[in-house]
Amino acid sequence: MRRSVFIEELDAFTYRSEIEKGDSIVLIPAGSIEQHGPHMPLNTDVLLSQAMAGSLAETVKALVAAPLVYGYKSQQRSGGGNHLAGTTSLDASTIIAIAKTLTMEHARHGVRKVVFVNGHYENYQFLYEGVDLAIQELQLRGIHDMKVMLLSYWDFIDDATISELYPEGFTGWDLEHGGVLETSLMMHLYADKIDIERIADLPPAVLPNYDILPVRPELTPTSGCLSSAANASPEKGEIILKRATVGMAAALEQEFLQQRKVASDSV
Ligand code: ZN
Ligand code: MN
Repeated sequence: MRRSVFIEELDAFTYRSEIEKGDSIVLIPAGSIEQHGPHMPLNTDVLLSQAMAGSLAETVKALVAAPLVYGYKSQQRSGGGNHLAGTTSLDASTIIAIAKTLTMEHARHGVRKVVFVNGHYENYQFLYEGVDLAIQELQLRGIHDMKVMLLSYWDFIDDATISELYPEGFTGWDLEHGGVLETSLMMHLYADKIDIERIADLPPAVLPNYDILPVRPELTPTSGCLSSAANASPEKGEIILKRATVGMAAALEQEFLQQRKVASDSV
């Protein structure tokens, strides 16, 4: 039987023996329960952050922890807004506490290299804060070798790939909510979970360069998507998955694996 990279599918003894070997990297996907238009499920960000982490884990020999299922509040300028039913979010203090606790828990297991693989735009700064608090606390407890990386997977898609994927012009990652990026990935990875017949081909959202609370619901397109997914395809999804994996693997190589190599060379 081929062993899963997903920790939640392992028995505890197998997990412990992996960690005891030392140098394990644990990837923690961070998603959300958020409306993604009429054509994609509420757990799109969970599925995609998990799939990205799974692909990365196969490439760099890492393990994937169970994901953060809920995320920070959807914002109108990056996720359509938290006023939309279906979208179910946590307060910032809760996300910070979860990120801190998960970092501390993996440290308790003996893991010293953790990566948060973010798939929901709004999570990022709160994951960062939780990790920062955990690192401070671990250092006070005398643990100085804990290293945590944070990333959002779309930041690893280079400009050449963006031009290839968006010949009609790129509107920015914030407006990609429910658009070509996520829909293409879902077509490639989870074709059975989406309904391409229901893609709403609307012009990209026109949003002010500021936030206003309470939100003005009319600023969000009726689809809930901030750009059209009409140009999405499974081929684009495959390219995005591959290029993002290569980019993320290079970053992990830089921060973790070269040190792994230096350590084993010096033995
Ligand atoms: Zn999303
Ligand atoms: Mn999202």
